[in-house]
Amino acid sequence: MYFSKKSGKNRVTVFALTDANVDFSIKAAIHNGIQEGEFFMEYQPQYDMDRRLIGAEALMRWTNRDLGRVGPDQFIPIVEDSGLMPFLGKWALRYSCHQLKKFHALDPDFVLSVNVSPIQFNSDHFDQEVLEVIAETGIDPTRLILEITESTLMSSQEKTERALAHLREKGIRFSIDDFGTGFSSLSYLTRLPVSSIKIDRAFITAMGAGPSAETSDNKLVCAMINLAHSIDLKVVAEGVETDMQYAFLKNAGCNLVQGYLLGKPMSADSMVRAFRQQLEV
Ligand code: C2E
Ligand code: CA
Ligand code: CA
Ligand code: CA
Repeated sequence: MYFSKKSGKNRVTVFALTDANVDFSIKAAIHNGIQEGEFFMEYQPQYDMDRRLIGAEALMRWTNRDLGRVGPDQFIPIVEDSGLMPFLGKWALRYSCHQLKKFHALDPDFVLSVNVSPIQFNSDHFDQEVLEVIAETGIDPTRLILEITESTLMSSQEKTERALAHLREKGIRFSIDDFGTGFSSLSYLTRLPVSSIKIDRAFITAMGAGPSAETSDNKLVCAMINLAHSIDLKVVAEGVETDMQYAFLKNAGCNLVQGYLLGKPMSADSMVRAFRQQLEV
């Protein structure tokens, strides 16, 4: 794994984290980073098909003193390897729920989605930890959605299913992230207490132009939406970047959209401002 390190004016040096030192250095950097406030969350707005802001997805950010800004696609796999994902994941959930409590002062219906890695989900006492965070922050559990991937369910042992059922019973909902990319059997959709799917950005990007485009990629997205609706699941489309994609998704009956067209990930303060604006109109 390589990180580019900014040093001096525009000089960029690249150094490698070898297996030998990755464990120690990254664990130390992450522990330290949490304490120093290097980790924080951003929030990407989610809209219904009337372009009403209804909620957000919490996304983790890390700006390290030495490495600069490191993307979650880079640091999360390392965190998972180093065994710290349950710890960092719980931190992210707590941070996000504290923020959700504040969003609820503006709108008690605001729904926040938080990502959960398979390693975190399958760690011991995951369900207990979620309930602890909910109790501690005082949020309404029916306004929290946990985004899990098909790989979380593929390893699906009794323990996973019990945790899912237990949390669902308490009002927490589950959404299948990156839907369609996991090569897994779809039987889990009816067997497990899942509430929605998030169609992966790759499928949205592949769609052709026009609200009723007849390309096979468009038909595939339509088929996913119809499949989900036929078993009472809601559909979120992620990575929506163009008006054409939005128009097509609206026409196809998609429930919620998220993407650069409507809003990039932003600070909590910016999210609050976006909200206030909506309340004023
Ligand atoms: P994801 O959960 O699929 O999140 C969506 C990613 O797509 C985010 O990247 C978001 O910024 C980006 N995105 C949203 N709309 C658009 C768009 O219209 N165009 C393009 N090109 N990109 C868009 P980000 O924030 O870099 O996160 C990358 C991945 O890192 C996430 O993918 C997720 O798998 C992981 N991640 C982020 N935060 C967390 C976290 O708190 N916990 C866990 N376990 N994973 C996280
Ligand atoms: Ca996600
Ligand atoms: Ca996703
Ligand atoms: Ca993704």
